[in-house]
Amino acid sequence: MKRFLVIWMVKLLYFAGNLLGKGTSLPGGIALKICPDILKRLKLPKLVVAVTGSNGKTTTVEMIARTLEKNGLRVAWNEGGSNQIEGVTTLLCRRANAKGEVQADVCILESDERYARHTFSYFTPTHFVVTNLFRDQMTRNAHPKWIADLIGEAISEKTTLVLNADDPLVAKFGKDRPGTVYFGMAENIESTKEPVGCYQDHAFCPVCGQRMEYEYYQFAGLGKYSCFGCSFVTPPADVLVTDYDPVGETIEINGTDRIRLAFGGRYFIYNLCAAYAVCQLAGISGKQAASDLSDLVQKNGRVAAFEVAGREGMLLTAKHENSVSYDQSLEYVSRQDEDMTVCILVDAISRKYFTGEISWLWDVHFEKLNTPRVKKVLLCGRYAFDLATRFSFTGISEEKIEVIPSLEEMGRRFYAEDGTKLYVITCFSDKDKIYSRVHALGATAK
Ligand SMILES: [Zn+2]
Repeated sequence: MKRFLVIWMVKLLYFAGNLLGKGTSLPGGIALKICPDILKRLKLPKLVVAVTGSNGKTTTVEMIARTLEKNGLRVAWNEGGSNQIEGVTTLLCRRANAKGEVQADVCILESDERYARHTFSYFTPTHFVVTNLFRDQMTRNAHPKWIADLIGEAISEKTTLVLNADDPLVAKFGKDRPGTVYFGMAENIESTKEPVGCYQDHAFCPVCGQRMEYEYYQFAGLGKYSCFGCSFVTPPADVLVTDYDPVGETIEINGTDRIRLAFGGRYFIYNLCAAYAVCQLAGISGKQAASDLSDLVQKNGRVAAFEVAGREGMLLTAKHENSVSYDQSLEYVSRQDEDMTVCILVDAISRKYFTGEISWLWDVHFEKLNTPRVKKVLLCGRYAFDLATRFSFTGISEEKIEVIPSLEEMGRRFYAEDGTKLYVITCFSDKDKIYSRVHALGATAK
């Protein structure tokens, strides 16, 4: 009876919250107060896939969900990206019938790295995808190795792991676990012999602590590694990118299935591989999954076009406090073959808490903007001067850099047509400050 009441309360609160434009965590939070083990009392579908990691959770979940839906499966997934235990509770209660049966063939649950152990103390996912572990919101999450320990606590022996083989912190979870599914990338035209980027959290073996040797790197600490001190090496991937064509923007998986990339660059590819692996586990053929994942433009697209007084612009959403996310946007910008002005806006570091911690600016590879195509760099927002200090180490000529702490001034500066396209890189927490000053044209694939 209690379960029945709680489920209906969540449905009503969710409906009311939707009308009021509120988030999706509140109904689940109240449900957990009334009935702390409500998640235990629900009957879940046969396939329950959890997705966690520092980067790419939302993207991976969306790709899996939309591909499975396209193939006729009923999918329950946290579209709003509300990924702590309250959001998961809202989702599952909302999709449950009066008997507590979740009405779906598959659940795909984005799960916060820190909260996974709480959520999965009430039920066990059949599959657990870990995309990668990088520095992310260190004010809140501390070091990725600490996060790895927390995720380790969330993993049940009964769960099949789907892991990034090329990330040692992630691949470690599959050690001595037969049946683990790995995804990875073979050496390709953009692999490097030396690490690229400002920090090396993956230099030491997560198993024995000895230094590791890399045959090549893909980006950050991802690549083909082996430990000097123990037998830990990059495991062979079940889903392997055998060919990557950055110009044609395609990848080939396991030598057979080719996927066209909706978003150029290497960073997105691991998410695609994870999605491809899960689609296969859900019974979709590799060929079909590759076809459905090709050109899949995400609703939560990171790239959106805008226009300001006839001037074309692109907004790239990165995440503050997450240097790999910034590197992804910077790589995208640096690939464009046109004269450009690049604006970096750091005004509110987080939308959830206040922090003035800016050490992460030193982890971002802003040096990528040191190209002839970048004509101007606008450093904007409350942290404009911290950005300027960081940029003084990039080698980018001082004449190209304008420091603009005022958002009003930033808006006015956008109108200064100088024949360049305007690229803006910022975070979800600051995105609206851009949209209120430009004419948004919507998400775009390229
Ligand atoms: Zn080792």
